[in-house]
Amino acid sequence: MTREARLRGLPSVDRLAVSVARAELAARREELVGGATDDVDLVQRAGDRLRPRLRRVLNATGVVIHTNLGRAPLAGGAQAAVRRAAAGYSNLELDLADGGRGSRHDHVEGLLCELTGAEAGIAVNNCAAAVLLAVAALAGGRETIVSRGQLIEIGGGFRIPEILAQGQTRLVEVGTTNRTRLADYTAAIGDATGAIVRAHPSNFRQLGFVETVEIEPLCRLGVPVIDDVGSGVLADELDLLVDEPAVGRSVRAGAAVVTFSGDKLLGGPQAGILVGRRAAIDACRAHPLARALRIDKLSLAALEATLAIYRDPAAAVREIPVLAMLSADRDELERRAVRLAEGTGGAVIDATARVGGGALPLLELSGPVVGLDPGPGGCDALAASLRSGDPAVLGRIHRGRVVLDVRTLTDADVDDVAAAVRAVAIQR
Ligand SMILES: *Cc1c(COP(=O)(O)O)cnc(C)c1O
Repeated sequence: MTREARLRGLPSVDRLAVSVARAELAARREELVGGATDDVDLVQRAGDRLRPRLRRVLNATGVVIHTNLGRAPLAGGAQAAVRRAAAGYSNLELDLADGGRGSRHDHVEGLLCELTGAEAGIAVNNCAAAVLLAVAALAGGRETIVSRGQLIEIGGGFRIPEILAQGQTRLVEVGTTNRTRLADYTAAIGDATGAIVRAHPSNFRQLGFVETVEIEPLCRLGVPVIDDVGSGVLADELDLLVDEPAVGRSVRAGAAVVTFSGDKLLGGPQAGILVGRRAAIDACRAHPLARALRIDKLSLAALEATLAIYRDPAAAVREIPVLAMLSADRDELERRAVRLAEGTGGAVIDATARVGGGALPLLELSGPVVGLDPGPGGCDALAASLRSGDPAVLGRIHRGRVVLDVRTLTDADVDDVAAAVRAVAIQR
């Protein structure tokens, strides 16, 4: 479209103003009928209505996988793939070779098998969906055995017992909260057993008198094992990630299905991935829930591009933002922090951050950050002002200062954060 055409395409003042005013006045009328007595600036509220609700946020929290901020930013290649898929048509469910109907699952299955060693794989909407689909397909109408130490809750209401109930499988609890042995599983296996579920306690750790069964002996019991590893570590290169279960290990052990997220440590789009034995994955594909839980084309495009980067693990660590941030070296962080301090009038101090997203809960990432003196209004007021800008800036409050962590900012972000801080300073 030419610039002239775009200009002509602007709505008339009347059309825009009338539609916004109608919506705003209707909302206010309802508030007043409901007994509201406060004073509000309707013009300002009308202005807010015209701004997008889903806004850019500059993540200066240092939390790399921040669920409230949309988890993983995408690699450049994945962003480009999303743009291509969004802009036009694609062979999403078309077999280009014979012109017949294809399956959306085919676009990532080869890569998933290549990277994990599995016989088969599919992707669905998210990992919660992946677990639901796996238990429904493998153990629906039958029993599922789970260690009492793994009846876990992941943020946002994902609870293993509730997911099993939704998957129409009867939960059989074995062991105790802190110790479960192989014999506990063996004793629980019977004619009605459909599967064993093993769930990684992603966001907490148990210490001390603890015993769990490793994936290998579990897979030798002759019952399909669904191993929910959560984060999906595909690259062995990063020492930081050694405490997270690697997908390839569970596949090699013989798990029927291994489930993991696309947007945690994998660093891709929101997605749930299932890899494992051909028969088990086929059962998942054929289950009616697969259609309800399917992945959309934009996420699929991003996932394919992200997985492709993993073919070269060194490139993955460089190009996938989550991995790059986790492995950022001190010099790089220092340089960014100094630049941000210069741009904001803050001071470079040392602090520690967390990975977030229910991964590596014990890992502390230390590094240089920028501390802002909050002034007379205090930290909460400064943090609120920074959040209200566009783009919004989110930091954290630590020992009487608002701290801006540069680990989760790009070089370009640093300039935007500095501008946002200066804009707030002028208003104060
Ligand atoms: C995060 C997580 C889930 C849920 O994954 P989503 O992609 O957020 O749906 C399920 N299981 C485990 C072990 C997890 O860590």
